[in-house]
Amino acid sequence: MKKIVVIGGGITGLSAVYTLQKYAAQAEQEMELTLIEAGQELGGKIRTVKDGEFIMETGADSIVARKSNVAPLLEELGLNTEVVYNATGRSFIYTEEGLKKIPEESLFGIPLSLESLATSELVSAEGKVEALKDFYTPNETFTEQDSLGSFLEYFLGAELVRKQIEPVVSGVYSGELDDLTIASTFPYLLQYKNEYGSLMKGLGEHKQKFLSGGSKKFISFDTGMSELIGTMERKLEGVRLRKGTKVRRVRHGLEGYEITTSDDEKLYADYVVLAVPHQAAQAMLQHAALDKDFDRLSNRSLISIYAAFDVPDEQLPEDGTGFIVGKDSDLKCNACTWTSRKWAHTSANNRLLVRLFYKSSGAHYEELVRMDENQLLDVALDDVRRSLGITAKPVMHNVTKWMDSMPNYHLQHPQLVKSLERTMEEQFPKVLLAGCSYYGVGIPDCIADGERAAKRILEETSI
Ligand code: FAD
Repeated sequence: MKKIVVIGGGITGLSAVYTLQKYAAQAEQEMELTLIEAGQELGGKIRTVKDGEFIMETGADSIVARKSNVAPLLEELGLNTEVVYNATGRSFIYTEEGLKKIPEESLFGIPLSLESLATSELVSAEGKVEALKDFYTPNETFTEQDSLGSFLEYFLGAELVRKQIEPVVSGVYSGELDDLTIASTFPYLLQYKNEYGSLMKGLGEHKQKFLSGGSKKFISFDTGMSELIGTMERKLEGVRLRKGTKVRRVRHGLEGYEITTSDDEKLYADYVVLAVPHQAAQAMLQHAALDKDFDRLSNRSLISIYAAFDVPDEQLPEDGTGFIVGKDSDLKCNACTWTSRKWAHTSANNRLLVRLFYKSSGAHYEELVRMDENQLLDVALDDVRRSLGITAKPVMHNVTKWMDSMPNYHLQHPQLVKSLERTMEEQFPKVLLAGCSYYGVGIPDCIADGERAAKRILEETSI
């Protein structure tokens, strides 16, 4: 009987082991499946905290609904009835002049029509005229491996990019616009430019795809995101679950691989899935040929701060769901979600719950990262006062630091991952790297990647 050990009980590892169990059962093939997780709970960067009437997500707060692999999985898990969707609302960019609306017909701040460009509150008349060059400048040089920032600026002009697009894209990807590739972010933008001659025209032609779904763009669950993790965990009937067990080494054994835990316990496996952050995989494998690539993968950090107030959330200044902070503002946060407005299930009595994000790429991060929880809360309250005019004392708060744990797909990322794959094949065949460090940070990507690893093992073991 084949022994398969999945290390890392985040959504990637869960997806891998869940898929292995499902297909092995269907093919009536026996497999010994083990899932090892260092923490006391599964979930990794998906972790819900409940505090009285409030539900908070210390990590991921939702799943993009339009990804095609999400709905079938939720249906299979019987989670459809627990699903909740985000409320519709405008997003804002906080500028020196206060909150400004991101135009409605835009994708990551990129206008989907001339009208959307014309009505932008964020860009000056000169900036709008400059952006028109998108309609008459053909693409002669850009490929998928080029920087997203240079690509957008070349066709849409500096002002539109820096004031309206960059804050939104940087809010989604934990990297600077100039360090991100077109391939790792929006490869379809290049296709549209080449096919339609204009980014705005191409996006406009596909408008329905981007604007459809109305309010149902993001999914969560009525008891929070951990519902997904708990449900998947309950389905793992035939899996040996080892929580609170940290893996120290993975090396070649007499047959297959030997896995050593931090308590010096040894486990053996024919196949291993390393669904852990890349630094953890690197430490387990300890191999010079891999180190040169692992060392060049990069992560960013982020501090998430929730604060709840005894204030009805109607008191928010605008009809929206939050704001992103533009450059040169007086705030220290990079973004703020009006959580109780966006997600009704997070605040049972409609009292105001907001979440502020402080990224390591932000100007104040060096100072913030040294602060304790109370000092950080004071910074957050000052940001809430300046941006929303709310001066009440918080009734509850939560501070979570995600140190060095937000993958940053910089320009060399795809080549480094390819090189890692080659070296793994040569040095550690049947050990698979999976998860957010390599193939996509969004939850749907991680689910798909766990499935990919599982299916490869299933193919090789000929089920
Ligand atoms: P992880 O969740 O990091 O899981 C890896 C697991 O490996 C962890 O449980 C860890 O304890 C375990 N591990 C590590 N070392 C060892 C070891 N030595 N032995 C055993 N186990 C080990 N994505 C979205 O789609 N939507 C969002 O709204 C969203 N928001 C986010 C907000 C924040 C603050 C963060 C941090 C991420 C967010 N993401 C979001 C990204 C998404 O949550 C992650 O990319 C995804 O959950 C990663 O899953 P994973 O299983 O690949 O890795």
